[in-house]
Amino acid sequence: MYYGQHYYIDNQHDPSLYYSSLPSTQPISTVEDHHLPPPPPPLTTNQHDPTQSYTPLEEIGYPYPTFEDPAILFEKIGQVGEGTYGKVYKARNCKTGQLLALKRIRMKTDKEGFPITAMREIKLLQKLRHERIVLLQEILVSKGSVYMVLEYMDHDLSGILGHPDFRFEPAHAKSLTKQILQGLAYLHHMGILHRDMKGSNLLVNNKGELKIADFGLARIFRKNQPGDYTNRVITLWYRPPELLLGATTYDTAVDVWGVGCIMLEFFVGKPIFNGTDEISQLDSIYKIMGTPTKDIWPTVDELPWYELVRPKEHCENVFRDTFKSMLTPGALALSEALLSMDPKNRPTAAEALEFEYFKTEEPKDILPANLMDMNDDWHDFESKQRKRKQAAI
Ligand code: ADP
Repeated sequence: MYYGQHYYIDNQHDPSLYYSSLPSTQPISTVEDHHLPPPPPPLTTNQHDPTQSYTPLEEIGYPYPTFEDPAILFEKIGQVGEGTYGKVYKARNCKTGQLLALKRIRMKTDKEGFPITAMREIKLLQKLRHERIVLLQEILVSKGSVYMVLEYMDHDLSGILGHPDFRFEPAHAKSLTKQILQGLAYLHHMGILHRDMKGSNLLVNNKGELKIADFGLARIFRKNQPGDYTNRVITLWYRPPELLLGATTYDTAVDVWGVGCIMLEFFVGKPIFNGTDEISQLDSIYKIMGTPTKDIWPTVDELPWYELVRPKEHCENVFRDTFKSMLTPGALALSEALLSMDPKNRPTAAEALEFEYFKTEEPKDILPANLMDMNDDWHDFESKQRKRKQAAI
């Protein structure tokens, strides 16, 4: 972030200078789950490893380094993603050879300043240290752009699922679901709602390790104190019914719904609820989960848009009939619970990890290492590019 001579983003500056609505002053909620580690100390700009090949920007003064500068540091290998504020590159640290991802945040004009979602993402990622959360190593400034330097991940789930010849083995699907839930349990424990759970934000490396990325829509919440938040979050196909019905007080269950959608995708091979707008998204959910009634969701009629979008016809729940041939009983029970229409009936991420699916049912989870024996990296970006090329033939 641009603060006069200081180009680093850290927590010591007064964010209200530019962004009065940032949640940075809110305390992180208290630690309740004893299985999880205590919150890590936030990264500060003084914690650089002196053996790293690049110099902290604070110390080098103007002019700031550029990628063309021979003293530098990162060789761009290619584009792997298209972010909201700019491209994501695969890069190599020239000195150490380490692969990294550079997420570019373009600042269009001085007037527009630093994008708020990028600011939010950086501030949140600085607070997070967990093997299931993508690691933000550094912030770098070059030619009017800020780059987030992230650990490199070879694939994302959307890219893998979009691969034409690929299906997950049940043991791999179990491992990935478990890893997503572990990451989410940590986030929720840290008092953070992700609010954009979907395949392209779940990164996987060649060891089969999964990490949650993209905190552009994430926010801090206060446990046991429902906040009043925007409901225009979460990509449509992964958005839970309470948000589609206009809820502005919601909690961690919104992220849990997304895990249910992604888990089923592992078995079915494609997104299960795939509307084109809010109404058709609700329809697509109702066709499988049934139209919500007060019996299964006692407070549904209190939601702002309930009457407005009430369907004329009633649908029965056909979830089990639809998926029982594709999922084991344990997988069926877990995904059904994650996709409970009433958010109160969804297990928390930590509770979901205790389901029989993980504890007792065979096969046990296996890390999906060296997926498809592929040398290629496989992200949403490459997957879409390939589809575009095929369509042009
Ligand atoms: P935005 O927040 O603007 O949507 P993302 O953080 O989701 O941007 O990044 C866009 C895409 O770039 C992701 O879907 C993923 O494929 C790729 N990407 C992001 N971070 C990394 C990373 N650390 N390693 C490899 N690829 C990444």
